[in-house]
Amino acid sequence: MQYTAVGRASPCTKWLAVASAYRLIRGSLVHDRDSLHQFLFEAFPVRGHIVHLDATWAALLEHRTYPEEIRDTLGEAVAASVLLASTVKFDGLLTLQLQGQGPMHLLLAQCTNTLNVRALARYREDPQTRDLTVLSGEGRLTVTVETDNQSQRYQGIVPLAGQRLADCLQGYFENSEQLPTRLWLYADEQGASGMLLQRLPAGNVDSSSRLAEIDDAWRRVQLLADTLKPAELRALSDREILHRLFNEDDVRLFEPTPVSFRCKCSRERVEGMLRSLGEGEVRSILTERPDVEVHCDFCNRAYTFDAVDVERIFKPGVGEGSGTVH
Ligand SMILES: [Zn+2]
Repeated sequence: MQYTAVGRASPCTKWLAVASAYRLIRGSLVHDRDSLHQFLFEAFPVRGHIVHLDATWAALLEHRTYPEEIRDTLGEAVAASVLLASTVKFDGLLTLQLQGQGPMHLLLAQCTNTLNVRALARYREDPQTRDLTVLSGEGRLTVTVETDNQSQRYQGIVPLAGQRLADCLQGYFENSEQLPTRLWLYADEQGASGMLLQRLPAGNVDSSSRLAEIDDAWRRVQLLADTLKPAELRALSDREILHRLFNEDDVRLFEPTPVSFRCKCSRERVEGMLRSLGEGEVRSILTERPDVEVHCDFCNRAYTFDAVDVERIFKPGVGEGSGTVH
Protein backbone atom coordinates (compact mmCIF):
# COMPACT_ATOMS: atom_id res chain seq x y z
CA MET A 1 0.00 0.00 0.00
CA GLN A 2 1.31 3.43 -0.91
CA TYR A 3 0.44 6.79 0.55
CA THR A 4 0.48 10.11 -1.20
CA ALA A 5 1.98 12.97 0.71
CA VAL A 6 -0.92 15.32 1.48
CA GLY A 7 0.71 17.73 3.88
CA ARG A 8 -0.84 16.19 6.95
CA ALA A 9 -1.22 12.62 8.09
CA SER A 10 -4.12 10.80 6.51
CA PRO A 11 -6.53 9.02 8.89
CA CYS A 12 -4.93 5.78 7.75
CA THR A 13 -1.35 6.74 8.72
CA LYS A 14 -2.59 8.25 11.96
CA TRP A 15 -4.21 4.98 12.84
CA LEU A 16 -0.97 3.13 12.05
CA ALA A 17 0.96 5.50 14.30
CA VAL A 18 -1.53 4.97 17.12
CA ALA A 19 -1.43 1.20 16.59
CA SER A 20 2.36 1.03 16.76
CA ALA A 21 2.43 3.25 19.84
CA TYR A 22 -0.13 0.96 21.40
CA ARG A 23 2.08 -2.04 20.68
CA LEU A 24 4.97 -0.18 22.21
CA ILE A 25 3.02 0.52 25.38
CA ARG A 26 1.68 -3.01 25.50
CA GLY A 27 5.19 -4.34 24.94
CA SER A 28 6.56 -2.45 27.91
CA LEU A 29 3.84 -3.89 30.14
CA VAL A 30 4.86 -7.44 29.41
CA HIS A 31 7.33 -8.59 32.01
CA ASP A 32 10.75 -9.89 31.08
CA ARG A 33 10.83 -13.67 30.77
CA ASP A 34 13.44 -16.28 31.64
CA SER A 35 16.11 -13.65 32.03
CA LEU A 36 18.48 -11.99 34.45
CA HIS A 37 18.97 -8.25 34.30
CA GLN A 38 21.76 -6.43 36.08
CA PHE A 39 21.48 -2.76 36.99
CA LEU A 40 23.76 -0.24 38.61
CA PHE A 41 23.16 3.01 40.46
CA GLU A 42 25.35 5.63 38.84
CA ALA A 43 25.67 7.92 41.87
CA PHE A 44 26.58 5.38 44.56
CA PRO A 45 28.08 1.87 44.76
CA VAL A 46 24.94 -0.25 44.76
CA ARG A 47 24.07 -2.84 42.14
CA GLY A 48 21.07 -5.03 41.58
CA HIS A 49 19.77 -8.00 39.67
CA ILE A 50 16.26 -9.01 38.67
CA VAL A 51 15.45 -12.55 37.58
CA HIS A 52 12.31 -14.08 36.08
CA LEU A 53 11.64 -17.75 35.46
CA ASP A 54 8.72 -18.60 33.23
CA ALA A 55 9.22 -21.42 30.67
CA THR A 56 12.12 -22.47 32.91
CA TRP A 57 9.75 -22.76 35.86
CA ALA A 58 7.18 -24.67 33.77
CA ALA A 59 9.91 -27.13 32.68
CA LEU A 60 11.03 -27.55 36.28
CA LEU A 61 7.49 -28.46 37.36
CA GLU A 62 6.62 -30.54 34.32
CA HIS A 63 7.11 -33.94 35.91
CA ARG A 64 6.33 -33.08 39.49
CA THR A 65 3.41 -32.00 41.58
CA TYR A 66 4.07 -30.21 44.83
CA PRO A 67 1.77 -28.82 47.50
CA GLU A 68 1.40 -25.09 46.85
CA GLU A 69 3.55 -24.03 49.82
CA ILE A 70 6.45 -26.27 48.77
CA ARG A 71 6.11 -25.35 45.10
CA ASP A 72 6.32 -21.63 45.86
CA THR A 73 9.22 -22.08 48.29
CA LEU A 74 11.04 -24.08 45.63
CA GLY A 75 10.40 -21.31 43.09
CA GLU A 76 11.81 -18.73 45.49
CA ALA A 77 14.86 -20.94 46.01
CA VAL A 78 15.49 -21.26 42.27
CA ALA A 79 15.17 -17.50 41.78
CA ALA A 80 17.53 -17.02 44.76
CA SER A 81 20.07 -19.47 43.33
CA VAL A 82 20.26 -17.42 40.11
CA LEU A 83 20.59 -14.16 42.07
CA LEU A 84 23.32 -15.62 44.31
CA ALA A 85 25.13 -17.02 41.25
CA SER A 86 25.03 -13.56 39.68
CA THR A 87 26.94 -12.06 42.62
CA VAL A 88 29.91 -14.43 42.55
CA LYS A 89 32.54 -15.06 39.91
CA PHE A 90 32.77 -18.83 39.43
CA ASP A 91 32.98 -21.50 36.80
CA GLY A 92 30.79 -24.37 37.90
CA LEU A 93 27.74 -24.87 40.03
CA LEU A 94 26.04 -23.01 42.87
CA THR A 95 23.78 -25.13 45.07
CA LEU A 96 21.24 -23.91 47.58
CA GLN A 97 20.25 -26.81 49.81
CA LEU A 98 17.87 -27.07 52.72
CA GLN A 99 17.79 -30.30 54.70
CA GLY A 100 15.74 -30.96 57.81
CA GLN A 101 13.29 -33.19 59.63
CA GLY A 102 10.16 -31.22 58.76
CA PRO A 103 7.44 -31.96 56.19
CA MET A 104 9.78 -30.77 53.42
CA HIS A 105 12.94 -32.66 54.28
CA LEU A 106 14.98 -31.67 51.23
CA LEU A 107 15.05 -28.67 48.93
CA LEU A 108 17.73 -28.37 46.29
CA ALA A 109 18.16 -25.55 43.77
CA GLN A 110 21.17 -25.40 41.49
CA CYS A 111 22.41 -22.76 39.05
CA THR A 112 25.47 -22.95 36.80
CA ASN A 113 27.64 -19.98 35.88
CA THR A 114 25.85 -20.03 32.50
CA LEU A 115 22.49 -19.71 34.31
CA ASN A 116 21.17 -23.19 33.69
CA VAL A 117 18.98 -24.19 36.61
CA ARG A 118 17.43 -27.34 38.01
CA ALA A 119 15.72 -28.01 41.33
CA LEU A 120 13.65 -30.40 43.38
CA ALA A 121 12.01 -30.76 46.76
CA ARG A 122 11.16 -33.89 48.70
CA TYR A 123 8.37 -33.92 51.22
CA ARG A 124 6.52 -36.32 53.47
CA GLU A 125 3.22 -34.54 53.89
CA ASP A 126 1.30 -31.46 52.86
CA PRO A 127 2.78 -28.82 55.18
CA GLN A 128 -0.07 -26.22 55.20
CA THR A 129 2.45 -23.50 56.02
CA ARG A 130 4.96 -21.30 54.28
CA ASP A 131 7.04 -20.75 57.39
CA LEU A 132 10.43 -22.09 56.37
CA THR A 133 11.42 -23.10 59.90
CA VAL A 134 8.28 -25.27 60.18
CA LEU A 135 8.51 -26.54 56.58
CA SER A 136 12.04 -27.76 57.06
CA GLY A 137 11.84 -28.47 60.80
CA GLU A 138 14.80 -26.36 61.96
CA GLY A 139 16.72 -27.51 58.92
CA ARG A 140 20.16 -26.65 57.69
CA LEU A 141 20.45 -24.29 54.75
CA THR A 142 23.74 -24.26 52.87
CA VAL A 143 25.10 -22.43 49.87
CA THR A 144 27.81 -24.32 48.01
CA VAL A 145 29.86 -23.05 45.10
CA GLU A 146 32.02 -25.62 43.35
CA THR A 147 34.01 -25.77 40.14
CA ASP A 148 33.04 -28.33 37.48
CA ASN A 149 35.99 -30.57 38.30
CA GLN A 150 35.25 -30.10 42.02
CA SER A 151 38.81 -28.86 42.57
CA GLN A 152 37.52 -25.81 44.43
CA ARG A 153 34.61 -25.71 46.81
CA TYR A 154 33.19 -23.07 49.08
CA GLN A 155 30.35 -23.72 51.48
CA GLY A 156 28.45 -21.27 53.64
CA ILE A 157 25.83 -22.09 56.25
CA VAL A 158 22.71 -19.98 56.29
CA PRO A 159 20.96 -19.59 59.66
CA LEU A 160 17.22 -20.22 59.42
CA ALA A 161 16.52 -16.85 60.97
CA GLY A 162 13.23 -16.02 59.33
CA GLN A 163 10.00 -17.44 58.05
CA ARG A 164 10.89 -16.85 54.41
CA LEU A 165 13.92 -17.70 52.36
CA ALA A 166 14.72 -14.06 51.54
CA ASP A 167 15.01 -13.25 55.28
CA CYS A 168 17.31 -16.23 55.87
CA LEU A 169 19.55 -15.28 52.97
CA GLN A 170 19.82 -11.74 54.29
CA GLY A 171 21.12 -13.26 57.53
CA TYR A 172 23.57 -15.31 55.50
CA PHE A 173 25.08 -12.21 53.90
CA GLU A 174 25.22 -10.42 57.26
CA ASN A 175 26.90 -13.31 59.07
CA SER A 176 29.39 -14.37 56.45
CA GLU A 177 31.22 -11.06 56.17
CA GLN A 178 30.01 -10.67 52.62
CA LEU A 179 28.73 -7.51 50.99
CA PRO A 180 25.47 -6.20 52.48
CA THR A 181 22.73 -7.73 50.34
CA ARG A 182 18.93 -7.88 50.30
CA LEU A 183 16.66 -10.17 48.34
CA TRP A 184 12.99 -10.05 47.41
CA LEU A 185 11.53 -13.32 46.14
CA TYR A 186 8.16 -14.37 44.83
CA ALA A 187 6.86 -17.53 43.16
CA ASP A 188 3.50 -18.98 42.21
CA GLU A 189 2.22 -21.54 39.74
CA GLN A 190 3.01 -19.28 36.75
CA GLY A 191 6.56 -18.37 37.54
CA ALA A 192 9.24 -17.27 39.95
CA SER A 193 10.91 -13.88 40.23
CA GLY A 194 13.45 -12.24 42.43
CA MET A 195 15.32 -9.02 42.95
CA LEU A 196 18.63 -8.52 44.71
CA LEU A 197 20.29 -5.32 45.86
CA GLN A 198 23.91 -5.33 46.91
CA ARG A 199 26.07 -2.62 48.37
CA LEU A 200 29.50 -2.68 46.75
CA PRO A 201 32.77 -1.60 48.40
CA ALA A 202 33.01 2.18 48.39
CA GLY A 203 36.61 2.17 47.10
CA ASN A 204 38.86 5.03 48.13
CA VAL A 205 36.28 7.15 49.83
CA ASP A 206 38.03 9.19 52.52
CA SER A 207 35.36 11.74 53.23
CA SER A 208 33.00 10.84 56.05
CA SER A 209 30.22 12.91 54.49
CA ARG A 210 30.46 10.87 51.28
CA LEU A 211 30.32 7.64 53.32
CA ALA A 212 27.24 8.92 55.17
CA GLU A 213 25.72 9.78 51.79
CA ILE A 214 26.30 6.20 50.58
CA ASP A 215 24.86 4.81 53.86
CA ASP A 216 21.74 6.93 53.34
CA ALA A 217 21.42 5.87 49.71
CA TRP A 218 21.74 2.19 50.66
CA ARG A 219 19.02 2.57 53.32
CA ARG A 220 16.79 4.51 50.94
CA VAL A 221 16.97 2.02 48.04
CA GLN A 222 16.11 -0.84 50.42
CA LEU A 223 13.08 1.04 51.75
CA LEU A 224 11.96 1.78 48.20
CA ALA A 225 12.43 -1.86 47.18
CA ASP A 226 10.33 -2.91 50.18
CA THR A 227 7.39 -1.08 48.60
CA LEU A 228 7.41 -3.38 45.57
CA LYS A 229 4.46 -5.74 45.79
CA PRO A 230 5.12 -9.41 44.94
CA ALA A 231 2.56 -9.24 42.13
CA GLU A 232 4.41 -6.23 40.67
CA LEU A 233 7.70 -8.11 40.74
CA ARG A 234 6.03 -10.86 38.71
CA ALA A 235 3.96 -8.73 36.36
CA LEU A 236 5.95 -5.61 35.48
CA SER A 237 8.81 -5.37 33.03
CA ASP A 238 12.21 -4.79 34.62
CA ARG A 239 12.34 -1.28 33.20
CA GLU A 240 9.02 -0.51 34.85
CA ILE A 241 10.11 -2.02 38.15
CA LEU A 242 13.19 0.22 38.17
CA HIS A 243 11.16 3.23 37.13
CA ARG A 244 8.47 2.49 39.72
CA LEU A 245 11.07 2.18 42.52
CA PHE A 246 14.02 4.37 41.63
CA ASN A 247 12.75 7.04 39.23
CA GLU A 248 14.67 9.72 41.11
CA ASP A 249 17.95 7.88 40.66
CA ASP A 250 20.18 7.44 37.67
CA VAL A 251 20.10 3.68 37.09
CA ARG A 252 21.94 1.88 34.31
CA LEU A 253 20.23 -1.29 33.07
CA PHE A 254 22.46 -3.83 31.32
CA GLU A 255 21.48 -6.27 28.59
CA PRO A 256 19.65 -9.32 29.97
CA THR A 257 21.15 -12.82 30.13
CA PRO A 258 18.86 -15.77 29.38
CA VAL A 259 18.08 -18.27 32.14
CA SER A 260 17.01 -21.80 31.25
CA PHE A 261 16.25 -25.21 32.68
CA ARG A 262 18.92 -27.75 31.89
CA CYS A 263 19.71 -30.92 33.76
CA LYS A 264 23.30 -32.07 33.93
CA CYS A 265 22.44 -35.73 34.41
CA SER A 266 24.10 -38.16 32.00
CA ARG A 267 24.46 -41.89 31.49
CA GLU A 268 28.04 -41.66 32.77
CA ARG A 269 26.93 -39.97 35.99
CA VAL A 270 24.20 -42.57 36.54
CA GLU A 271 26.77 -45.33 35.97
CA GLY A 272 28.94 -43.69 38.62
CA MET A 273 25.96 -43.66 41.00
CA LEU A 274 25.33 -47.39 40.34
CA ARG A 275 28.99 -48.12 41.03
CA SER A 276 28.75 -46.34 44.37
CA LEU A 277 25.61 -48.38 45.13
CA GLY A 278 27.70 -51.56 44.80
CA GLU A 279 27.76 -54.53 42.47
CA GLY A 280 25.78 -56.85 44.79
CA GLU A 281 22.93 -54.38 45.17
CA VAL A 282 22.68 -53.69 41.42
CA ARG A 283 22.87 -57.37 40.47
CA SER A 284 20.13 -58.20 42.99
CA ILE A 285 17.80 -55.86 41.04
CA LEU A 286 18.57 -57.88 37.90
CA THR A 287 17.37 -61.08 39.59
CA GLU A 288 13.91 -59.52 39.83
CA ARG A 289 13.65 -57.69 36.51
CA PRO A 290 15.35 -57.68 33.10
CA ASP A 291 17.05 -54.33 33.55
CA VAL A 292 17.90 -51.64 36.05
CA GLU A 293 15.97 -48.43 35.46
CA VAL A 294 17.05 -45.15 37.02
CA HIS A 295 15.01 -41.96 36.75
CA CYS A 296 16.68 -38.61 37.23
CA ASP A 297 14.93 -36.80 40.07
CA PHE A 298 15.45 -33.43 38.44
CA CYS A 299 14.23 -34.05 34.87
CA ASN A 300 12.60 -37.50 35.09
CA ARG A 301 14.79 -38.80 32.27
CA ALA A 302 15.02 -42.60 32.40
CA TYR A 303 18.28 -44.53 32.08
CA THR A 304 18.12 -48.31 31.62
CA PHE A 305 20.91 -50.82 32.05
CA ASP A 306 20.62 -54.48 31.06
CA ALA A 307 22.81 -57.36 32.25
CA VAL A 308 25.49 -56.60 29.62
CA ASP A 309 25.64 -52.93 30.72
CA VAL A 310 25.91 -53.95 34.38
CA GLU A 311 28.70 -56.39 33.50
CA ARG A 312 30.62 -53.58 31.81
CA ILE A 313 29.99 -51.04 34.61
CA PHE A 314 31.51 -53.33 37.23
CA LYS A 315 34.40 -54.56 35.07
CA PRO A 316 37.57 -53.84 37.03
CA GLY A 317 39.19 -50.58 36.00
CA VAL A 318 36.08 -49.12 34.29
CA GLY A 319 34.93 -45.69 35.38
CA GLU A 320 36.79 -45.65 38.68
CA GLY A 321 36.58 -42.37 40.46
CA SER A 322 33.49 -41.16 38.61
CA GLY A 323 30.99 -39.13 40.58
CA THR A 324 27.40 -39.51 41.63
CA VAL A 325 24.28 -38.82 39.63
CA HIS A 326 23.99 -35.34 41.12
ZN1 LIG B 1 18.26 -35.09 34.77
